[in-house]
Parts: sequence; structure tokens; C-alpha cells
Amino acid sequence: MPKEPIKTKELSAEQRSSNFSEVVLGYSQEEALTEASRCLQCKDPKCIAGCPVGINIKQFIKQITEKDFSKAYFTIREKNNFPCICGRVCPAEYQCRKACVLTKKDSPFASALAINIHFLERFIGDFGMKNGLMVNISPDNRISRYRVAVVGSGPAGLCCAGELARLGVKVTVFEALHSSAGVLRYGIPPFRMPRDILDFEIDYLKSLGVEIIPNFIVGKTNDLSDLSKEGFSAVFLGLGAGVPSFLGILGENLCNVYSANEFLTRVNLMSAYDFPKAHTPVNIGKHILVIGGGNTAMDAARCALRLQKMNNIAPDTTIVYRRTEVEMPARRLEIEHAKEEGVKFKLLVAPKEFKGDKDGFVTKLTSLECSLGDPDASGRRRPVAIEGSDFDLDCDIAIIAIGLQANKVLTGVTPEIKTDKYGDVVVDPQTMETSIKGVFAGGDIVGGEGTVIEAMGMAKKAALAIKEYLYSLNK
Ligand code: FAD
Repeated sequence: MPKEPIKTKELSAEQRSSNFSEVVLGYSQEEALTEASRCLQCKDPKCIAGCPVGINIKQFIKQITEKDFSKAYFTIREKNNFPCICGRVCPAEYQCRKACVLTKKDSPFASALAINIHFLERFIGDFGMKNGLMVNISPDNRISRYRVAVVGSGPAGLCCAGELARLGVKVTVFEALHSSAGVLRYGIPPFRMPRDILDFEIDYLKSLGVEIIPNFIVGKTNDLSDLSKEGFSAVFLGLGAGVPSFLGILGENLCNVYSANEFLTRVNLMSAYDFPKAHTPVNIGKHILVIGGGNTAMDAARCALRLQKMNNIAPDTTIVYRRTEVEMPARRLEIEHAKEEGVKFKLLVAPKEFKGDKDGFVTKLTSLECSLGDPDASGRRRPVAIEGSDFDLDCDIAIIAIGLQANKVLTGVTPEIKTDKYGDVVVDPQTMETSIKGVFAGGDIVGGEGTVIEAMGMAKKAALAIKEYLYSLNK
């Protein structure tokens, strides 16, 4: 059994940094078998508790070693509807891999020796997709005559829709955008999440009878009470956290200061990288600064750098972050990939003011150097700006990627839905039911910005509760 983990093949930085092709290529069968053979099959596997939806990791890895890939697929699918997606985007280093017994106890994230559970999951998910493995529909006659509305087609909405459709419930998903999958499509770039995988998952849901209605904003096109008048017996809200936070500093409204949401939506959803073939452009400059240290910042920086290269501009894209790399919330792999591709990092730097030219276009970012203070509520050491340390960074495009907040389009016009001080929907944690009977919620609109697998975990819990709720209507 090899001690060192098996790396997956990747496109080299040279091959990938001027296009949007998928970077990580995944395991071959032989590589998956070798990596699976490294699993110690612990008596008391901690990795399962490290997975937000509790996939039986030990069992699916054992099934890989037995070359029973179909069984491994169905083991994963018991808990996770989208293994091809999660195998590509889960921050495993903070979740299952961190809990792996091969990770040292005091490590802030998984050690390199931990089993590459996410790559094994991806291998099995892709195997299932290529071989047409489908989870059977088992209609439940007690509830299959009911209609359920799902608002939002991100991972939470799609997961809830899939769970209910498998029981024969008639599900309609209402999506504000023209295309489904939420952040997976409008935020995460194709070089991390190939679009054919999203299309496959959505087609599969449609094959289960799920109807998806795009360009439909519940709260504007119609409202919740209309849904009940139209015959929906229950509603799931998977609205996400799609509203960007801003720095609140001078000059933030200058031209060419983007929110990461706008930038990524233009690039990924509207294919700005294919302009003028695609109709939506995005401005690209010589000196691009991306403010933030999460996945959104990495995605924005890696897109920006690719666009510089594709437009024959010498690459100069820099991440500006107030803390150090250890505190960055982004997946480790994305940080490594960004560095390999040539994204620069300015750490311990806090933006103070954007400056512009006479036409109102941004030209500079005045910043302060920082040191690290005591840990804050997030457990990460707090950045402390050093007075008088001001310096300027050249900047003709700025992308703000410092966080996202609840989308209030629907909750703003539905005061009966109780929300907290952040605008997140308040639910009963056991059932995910909101303050309105028969209306459930999950994903980022409940917990604030989280992860794909966490959103799906909540959606699955809500789907179970919706099933019980529909049973109760029969009585
Ligand atoms: P969303 O994915 O936001 O989907 C919500 C959907 O609801 C959207 O399509 C929206 O248009 C629609 N909607 C909202 N309001 C209405 C309405 N009133 N009517 C109709 N439709 C509506 N997580 C990871 O695990 N790994 C990663 O690598 C990762 N990278 C990320 C990169 C970026 C750029 C971003 C922004 C997030 C990333 N995340 C990542 C976080 C992850 O994507 C989210 O936690 C997850 O998408 C939340 O799912 P959701 O279904 O709750 O919301």
C-alpha cells in the first residue's frame, strides 16, 4: 500500500491558464484503486462525521477496492444526490479529509497524507454518470398526487426537487435566472465545474418529472400566496445568498469596480469570455485587484487572469487579503491553482480608498498594511490595520469578493416569513419549516454563505419533512 496519496492528473498551468477547460482531470480506475487501498478502514471512521451529509465513506471506499463501482455509487447516492458535483467542489480539506485519521489532530486543515476522499467520490460519480446508473423512482401513493413548488434551482433547490420527485411528488422549480443550477452555474467557472455535468444532473431531474420554469422570480413574477392558489401544497425556498457585500470605502462606486457576483455572472453565466460571439462583455484591464480570500475571490482572480491572457494583456491579477494564507477560507486546491497560474497574493493588506481619474474610472487602491490580532468570532485571527502604513496599488479593474448576504427579493415582500438580523430565513432546525406552515427552506438562505454539500444536507432534511407534511394532509 503506497504511503503517499495518489495525485490526480491536471492540465499544466501553461495549458490551462488561457482557456476555461476543466483543470483537474480526475482519477483513472487504476489510480482510484490504489488511492482506495490506502484507506485504513478504521473501526471507528471519523471521516463519516466529517461529511456534512454523513456519506458512508468507509463503505464506498471498500467497495472501490472490491472493484464494485456500482455499489460504491449507490452507497454515495444514499446521502448525496450529486457526487460528480461534490467530488469537484467540496472543501474536503475542512470536512471529511480533515477528520481522516491520517490527518494530524492539531492541523487547521487536512494533511497531505489524508485519503483523497473527494477524488474517489468524483471517480465514482463520473462512473455512475458514464454508465447511466440511476436511482430508481419509488412512488409513494399516499403523496404522489401532491404538487410542491421549489423556489431557486441552486444545489439546495435541485436536491429537494430530486428527493421529492423520486417519491412521485409533482415538483415545479421556479428559477429567477434563464438557466438552472444557481451558483454552480453563475458563480463557479467551467474550469472547475464543467457545464455538461450540470446539464446531466438537470436532465436527470427532468426525467424524474421535475418541471423547471426559468425567468420566474417568486416575489415579483408572482408571490407565495399565488403558489398556494395554483395548487401547490408545500413550498421549499432555496433562495441562496446572492447579494454581494461591499467594503464601504471611498471610491467604491467608481467605474470598473465590480462585485464578484456581477463579474462572475458576466463571465460564467453570460459567457463574456466568448464576446462578441456571446453578447455580454466584461471590462478587463492591465492591473486587476481582487479583494477577498474565499472561493469567490479565487474564482474571480483565476477568471480575470485567463481573460487578460486571452486578450493578449500581460497577466497582472492580484488577490488582496487582510489576513494571511492560513486564514483564507478558500479551498486549498484553489489557492494552489491560482498561484500556479500566476495570480499574485498581497497578504495582510486592508483596502482604504479607491482613487479614480477625471472620467470616473478607478486607477489606484490606497491600502494599509495589517498585522494579526486576537481571534475573532470566526476563530480566525483578526486583521489589525497599521496606522500610517498607507500605500497605493495600481488598479484599473477591482473585483470585490468579501462575502454574500441573503437574497431578500421574496422575504422582503413576505413579512410572514421570519428572518434574522442578517435577513436569513429562520427555520425549525429539525424540519427546516419556516414560520409559515407548509413552507420550508434550506441552503445559503438559512445558514448564510456555506458550501454546496451543506446546502444539499439541509434540502434533504427539508424534503423528508415535506414528505411528512404531505402525509399529514391526508389525515
Ligand atoms: P444558490 O446556489 O445561490 O442558488 C439559489 C438560486 O435561487 C439561484 O439560482 C437564484 O437565482 C434563485 N433565486 C433566488 N431568489 C429567487 C426568487 N425569488 N425566485 C426564483 N429564484 C430565485 N461551495 C463549495 O462547497 N465549494 C466551492 O468550491 C464553492 N465555490 C463557490 C464559488 C463562488 C463564486 C460562490 C459564490 C460560492 C461558492 N461556494 C462553494 C458556495 C456554494 O456555491 C453555495 O453554498 C451553494 O451554491 C448554496 O446553494 P443554494 O441552493 O442555497 O443557493
